[in-house]
Amino acid sequence: MSDTSDSVQKQRRQLMTFLAAAGASPLIASGCTRTGDKLEQERKSNALLWAVAWKQTAAEYRALCYQAYNLARLRLDLALARRSGNGKPLAVITDMDDTILHADSYWGHLIEIGREFFDDAIWDQWLPKNLHTLVPGALEFFDYCAENAVEVFYVTSRNQGDRTYEYALAQLRESGFPYADESHLTVYRDSSDKSPAREAIGQTHDIVLLLGDNLNDYKRDYYVNGVDERAAVMERDRADFGDIFILLPNPTDGHWVRAIFGESEPVPSNAAYKALFAAATRRAWDGN
Ligand SMILES: [Mg+2]
Repeated sequence: MSDTSDSVQKQRRQLMTFLAAAGASPLIASGCTRTGDKLEQERKSNALLWAVAWKQTAAEYRALCYQAYNLARLRLDLALARRSGNGKPLAVITDMDDTILHADSYWGHLIEIGREFFDDAIWDQWLPKNLHTLVPGALEFFDYCAENAVEVFYVTSRNQGDRTYEYALAQLRESGFPYADESHLTVYRDSSDKSPAREAIGQTHDIVLLLGDNLNDYKRDYYVNGVDERAAVMERDRADFGDIFILLPNPTDGHWVRAIFGESEPVPSNAAYKALFAAATRRAWDGN
């Protein structure tokens, strides 16, 4: 960022614009009763609108999911062709949320009630209702794995209390996913670190693919602070994407959010809006 006086003035204008917008935000006014025109105005200025509208409507979003699973199948076919009779059995490891299950109605609900950040309490109420939808291409791909005796392991970080595991397993079964049993599902309630599960599966199986919507689904290396640090580690591993790592799109949540705000589920605040504004304008043209 430049240190010129023009740049400083621009930053001041941006901050004033930001503060004016934040003052009208539903989150700054959290705790107040929202009715009528106020709620309508808050809905129009919701910071999540574009990302959620894209998730809800874009054929491109669904096409990206198919693209990921088409590529996964291609990579699996290559692994099957290379498979020797003496090696460990083949396996794929997948995340659940935003990799095989979508939460469209949860995000739509947040928009309806004027929330602009992931809301853990509402998520915990929504999840047991089984309102999820299937990520396009996911079920077909995992059925293909099963048809070829490639085991599927589900590894997720969720915490809805004592019934967390039960909910996750039921969702896999009700959705018709193969290998939906206790030996193929790992749920971490208190950590987003999936390394122990990956290492344990790797002891007994040849892991040919890892599927996720978050780089942390592949390696703990990506759990670093800051946007630039995270990007640098990803660049180091760039050849792995579309090879052993299959990535699904997710513009609403994940550790990319943590890189901006310092936490994956930031609390609505002026500081959070300021961080979001800074992220969106970090490469902004100055207009000249
Ligand atoms: Mg996920």
